[in-house]
Amino acid sequence: MIDKQTKQMITAKDFIEQAHVYSKGKVCPTCKEHKLFSEFYKDKHTKDGLKYICKSCDLKRQHNICPFKKAFLNKRSHALTGRNGKRKRKFTIEPEDIPGVKIKVIPYGTKTKWEATKYPKHCTDCGAQFDWSMNGIQYNSPSFDRIDPEFDYVIRPDGKCNVRLICNSCNSSKLNCPSNVWEIERKRKARFILFGNNKG
Ligand SMILES: [Zn+2]
Ligand SMILES: [Zn+2]
Repeated sequence: MIDKQTKQMITAKDFIEQAHVYSKGKVCPTCKEHKLFSEFYKDKHTKDGLKYICKSCDLKRQHNICPFKKAFLNKRSHALTGRNGKRKRKFTIEPEDIPGVKIKVIPYGTKTKWEATKYPKHCTDCGAQFDWSMNGIQYNSPSFDRIDPEFDYVIRPDGKCNVRLICNSCNSSKLNCPSNVWEIERKRKARFILFGNNKG
């Protein structure tokens, strides 16, 4: 009698413990597994502040997405929302407007998705090989340069795309320098590196 009661007590305790553990997590719709909240990345845009899919499914998905597409979509969302105190910018260009980019459109259910089949591998400015691993920001990570700082990520009135890919170190030294001034400045920097400050 006592035994049976103890057994039931343990079962109830287990049940509560399980429910407790369960309440600290949710089911990932991709792998269909129940995982703890710590197994989900944070996301400001969802109700519970976490991504719908779990970390390991998210990493798998990010691994499969082509690095140019990832960079392009990141840049677009940053430009449109104006993150880190930067002002919002127009972003109306399509991937193929950027020199050296070719894409392939793939049917995806009732919609379509795209991936880049060709994208620049070197910086247009200094020739450095891009680091497309998208593993944090490196000096040679690709960066979207607004050629004429007067314009956003758009097709300029002269019909040319105002965006090209240059390396991060070129882009950060360029800042908002207009392209004609930058050409002179770049040569001055190169002379400085080669000959030092002899005002040559
Ligand atoms: Zn999952
Ligand atoms: Zn460069």
